[in-house]
Amino acid sequence: MQRDTQVFDIIRKELERQRNGIELIASENFTSLQVMQAMGNVLTNKYAEGYPGRRYYGGCEVVDEVETLAIERLKKIFNCSWANVQPHSGAQANGAVFLAVMKPGEKFMGLDLSMGGHLTHGSPANFSGKTYHAIHYGVTPEGLIDYDQLEAKARAEKPKMIICGASAYSRDWDYARIRKVADEIGAIVFADIAHPAGLIAKGLLNDPFDHCHIVTSTTHKTLRGPRGGIIMLRHDFENPWGIKDPKGNLRTMSQLLDLAVFPGSQGGPLEHVIAAKAVAFGEILTDNFTTYARQVQANAQAMAKAFVAKEYHLISKGTDNHLMLIDLRNKNITGKKAQETLDKAHITLNKNAVPFDDKSPFVTSGIRVGVPAITSRGLKEEHMQTVVDLIDKVLMNIDDTALVSRVSGEVHELMGGFPLYPEL
Ligand SMILES: *Cc1c(COP(=O)(O)O)cnc(C)c1O
Repeated sequence: MQRDTQVFDIIRKELERQRNGIELIASENFTSLQVMQAMGNVLTNKYAEGYPGRRYYGGCEVVDEVETLAIERLKKIFNCSWANVQPHSGAQANGAVFLAVMKPGEKFMGLDLSMGGHLTHGSPANFSGKTYHAIHYGVTPEGLIDYDQLEAKARAEKPKMIICGASAYSRDWDYARIRKVADEIGAIVFADIAHPAGLIAKGLLNDPFDHCHIVTSTTHKTLRGPRGGIIMLRHDFENPWGIKDPKGNLRTMSQLLDLAVFPGSQGGPLEHVIAAKAVAFGEILTDNFTTYARQVQANAQAMAKAFVAKEYHLISKGTDNHLMLIDLRNKNITGKKAQETLDKAHITLNKNAVPFDDKSPFVTSGIRVGVPAITSRGLKEEHMQTVVDLIDKVLMNIDDTALVSRVSGEVHELMGGFPLYPEL
């Protein structure tokens, strides 16, 4: 058969784009070559509905091995007793949690999307907000989680579930405090660690597992694996909420979650992606990844300092994790304009609403900046200053197209020193 040059030429173009640019989208990363290799192979041909040892199709003995390996490695990373590696994405993992524990119309509470939360935490545009009764907590004027408000709302509204976790929040979480009020009202605590999971894996941030009943994550952000989702429990439990499966039987939480993934909301698992998850989990268990996670945190600190020195307003005045949220209003630039112009200089990041933003989500007053991807490229603390200098040069000369184009040249030159997939 003839090779599909049309598609492979496009893929090559994307490789060049990734090689040449400074990637600052906080949710992105570069997997290892072997993570990608584990995804592109015969495992994609196999149907394996069900779970290892209990499948609906024959011929699953090999994929059972790879899925079991992924589960065992993941349990080791987070010291868990149970894990499900089948969710196709973070949103799918969260969907399964809702399906497992909530009936349509029941009430839950999450961080407001406009304050850093995620679509699946109750946005009216998402299944979570359409199917269930979503209420929200927010952040203080300083940009920190408003725990007083969270507690007051929890006591007044008695949601069945409280979600902690965010997509644009640069500080650590007080999981113990959330669990305390949840216990008062009998609520389930669900932590969505899609963003900081790689730092949590190495003990660099508070551990949600002892305080939260259920934990989900993506695998492609700071965990540096293939695109996908996971669900974990440190301690399985006979659920005290009396939640029943579709047949009316009482089940343990792990059984409810397994049923909610399959057959509840997905069909056949992506065993090729699960193989790549297993490779990524193997990498996370090494000392190299410990070094990587520490470098991510150190780079974020260095970058935050460099921005503050140039009088950029960081929400909450800094960061504990891998990202920062910057309010550009004192610079008279919108998030949209900043994103679009930086894109022309091949510096990729996203516009982002800041807490109490007066602009629409399509314009926004801020940008979100993350370091996981450039840290994977090999950039260290001293390069963070260079990156901030380049961003500042563009933003301070935002209508000077000739200058922006010159900066793109400087960007290529800088990133040429940090080869990406030289084997390809
Ligand atoms: C990225 C993210 C998700 C969703 O992940 P997808 O794989 O894009 O579906 C869920 N929750 C949070 C907090 C996230 O940041």
